[in-house]
Amino acid sequence: MAFMSKRDYYEVLGINKDATPEEIKKTYRRLARKYHPDVNKEPDAADKFKEVKEAYEVLSDEQKRAQYDRFGHAASQGQGFGGGGFGAEDFGGFGDIFDMFFGGGGRRDPNAPRQGNDLQYTMTLDFEEAIFGKETDISIPSEEKCDTCKGSGAKAGTKPETCRHCHGSGQLNMEQNTPFGRVVNKRVCHHCSGSGKEIKEKCTTCHGKGTVKKQKKIHIKIPAGIDNGQQIRVAGKGEPGVNGGPAGDLYVVVQVRPHEFFQRDGDDIFCDMPITFAQAALGDEIEVPTVHGKVKLKIPAGIQTGKTFRLRGKGVPNVRGYGHGDQNVRIRVITPTNLTERQKELIREFNDLSGNEPTDETEDSFFSRVKRAFKND
Ligand SMILES: [Zn+2]
Ligand SMILES: [Zn+2]
Repeated sequence: MAFMSKRDYYEVLGINKDATPEEIKKTYRRLARKYHPDVNKEPDAADKFKEVKEAYEVLSDEQKRAQYDRFGHAASQGQGFGGGGFGAEDFGGFGDIFDMFFGGGGRRDPNAPRQGNDLQYTMTLDFEEAIFGKETDISIPSEEKCDTCKGSGAKAGTKPETCRHCHGSGQLNMEQNTPFGRVVNKRVCHHCSGSGKEIKEKCTTCHGKGTVKKQKKIHIKIPAGIDNGQQIRVAGKGEPGVNGGPAGDLYVVVQVRPHEFFQRDGDDIFCDMPITFAQAALGDEIEVPTVHGKVKLKIPAGIQTGKTFRLRGKGVPNVRGYGHGDQNVRIRVITPTNLTERQKELIREFNDLSGNEPTDETEDSFFSRVKRAFKND
């Protein structure tokens, strides 16, 4: 491990403990040039360059150097500096030390039960499926216990043996210099990845992993009224737990396909309803589609585009069971096109009768206001 072989910074630069800042700078420049990976093609040049750079970063800074002189490499963790040459894995820091002093240490115990990972599955629903709910089976790729070796990872007829390096504890002792003196710190054994067991001959089905990828079938109940982006939690259907811990959860995220006619906002549904200009002028009774079937709607004579009717309770059932939303129908008057000669004749006649003015019986109509606005031009 990097920590074990971590060299003293003075040793790295080849200088004495009482070296002056000038000396440190000069030595660093010489070594940096020597080991720079662009210049030096030796296989370990990059590592050496990094080591030199790290040593210089600490020793060239008065404060960091003083800390280092007092505490050695352990100083860098607590102070939040360090050359980046070592990761958290190599270098436990004060958390571990306190765990040891105060009887903790369970934080990194490789044998402690852990909950399995959560899984996420995206399900796409039709507009109506989201409104009325759905029951369905889904297949989810999942790491499941290998049947061949019953999860041990060892070949049939063999058994995993106790790890020679950690003697089955899954942990190795590491010595570390700290502000409290030299302490022994526990690390996950990297020979057995903390399992405490070594597999000599691997199971041919799972190649020693103890788990295999399988398709897991799960029955899902989508509640009526679910909306785009909402998710359903299926407890215990995530990945299996580790060391006897509970399984994770499965989250089903819902995506709803848009509808060509209906739009949805919460529990309310919106739609545009086209009518002819004759229907608009004379009034009519029309049939409006809703997700609950067709509904009759009385159109009063003289209706304009944009007028909205509310059909109570014809919207989406609330996903938590609080009643239904409404359907809002917005009227759109369609200007007729592709007229026959006879139709055109009738419209011209209509136009002559109405004196070439938009006929709108309400006094402060949109048209009269527009007319007033442009009168003085
Ligand atoms: Zn196996
Ligand atoms: Zn081991």
